Amino acid sequence: MRVDNSTVEAFKKKLEEAEMAQLSSELRFEEMMKPHTSFRVGGPAQVYAEPSNTKELVALLSASDSVGMPYFLMGNGSNIVVSDEGIDGLVIRLGEKFSEITSEEDPQDPDCVLIRASAGTLLTKLSSYAAKAGLTGLEFASGIPGSLGGAVFMNAGAYDHDMSEVLEKVISISPSGEVISWKKEDLALGYRSSVFMIKGGIVAEAVLKLRRGNIDEIQAQIRTYTEKRTKSQPLNFPSAGSMFKRPTGYYTGALIEQAGLKGFSIGGAQVSEKHAGFVINTGNATAADIDALVSHIQATIREKFGVELTREVRFIGRGFN
Ligand SMILES: Cc1cc2nc3c(=O)[nH]c(=O)nc-3n(C[C@H](O)[C@H](O)[C@H](O)COP(=O)(O)OP(=O)(O)OC[C@H]3O[C@@H](n4cnc5c(N)ncnc54)[C@H](O)[C@@H]3O)c2cc1C
Repeated sequence: MRVDNSTVEAFKKKLEEAEMAQLSSELRFEEMMKPHTSFRVGGPAQVYAEPSNTKELVALLSASDSVGMPYFLMGNGSNIVVSDEGIDGLVIRLGEKFSEITSEEDPQDPDCVLIRASAGTLLTKLSSYAAKAGLTGLEFASGIPGSLGGAVFMNAGAYDHDMSEVLEKVISISPSGEVISWKKEDLALGYRSSVFMIKGGIVAEAVLKLRRGNIDEIQAQIRTYTEKRTKSQPLNFPSAGSMFKRPTGYYTGALIEQAGLKGFSIGGAQVSEKHAGFVINTGNATAADIDALVSHIQATIREKFGVELTREVRFIGRGFN
């Protein structure tokens, strides 16, 4: 439900009381989400903020908690479909402003380096930072267009590797603004899942442990992964990557292809001709087109093969949740 004006005013006042007048003045209203998502769909966020540090993030969370303003937190928008009607309440985006990288020798292991990065840092940037420094472990992430925070939340991965292999520590913020430090063994990292998906909370920063390696081999591995992606994925169309989680014992793309759905479209949303596990925006798709197409795929696969396809991409906003 849309948040009323008095709640929005109370929220701004709370920020000002917390000496965040600048942040309050930078809030945007009815900000279209379309340009902030890789699918290039989505209506307006009622209130939109891009904090530049943890203090600002905590202030936004505390203010929204105390006035009862719902919030949605996003990173680079590469694993979401935002409703055409938009998102009620506050959208907090951890983007370029929230992206700092530092590194230090690992005091426990001279062969390793610890990289500390803020949640808005792009994985592609982190992967190339590591490669340039001759550090191995993040090659798999070189083509994943998400933020570090989104990648921790989803335990993003590719080519039989995922974030669980490199994460050492995570600093998160609870919905009421409490800062919590997590050791890797408490992060419950599984296939595209983490403790944050189950318990909530926002990833503010993470420490990755990477091993010293051979710079030429690291760069060659990245080139191989990039070639594989370019050959097999429809990277020239807006999408959110693989639409579904991989069902045990099956390949999603093969199931969808066998069901005769390759190329099938509803409005501007289409099952990619290049990779049937991807739904793409051919130019003028709406979120409703994507939702209808995904529901149609799920129903067809259930009917034909008795297999339940679960959405990996998250559908956010009015009418979706
Ligand atoms: C072309 C393409 C290829 C892709 N390939 C891969 C791939 O190989 N492997 C893979 O795993 N994924 C892939 N993806 C999907 C996507 O890039 C990842 O899931 C990525 O981790 C999402 O990060 P994001 O910052 O874009 O998250 P968003 O889309 O902004 O958000 C996704 C979810 O994460 C939550 N979230 C975001 N940031 C935080 C945070 N700081 N703290 C807590 N929760 C947060 C949001 O609330 C939301 O629920 C691909 C996407 C595209 C478009």
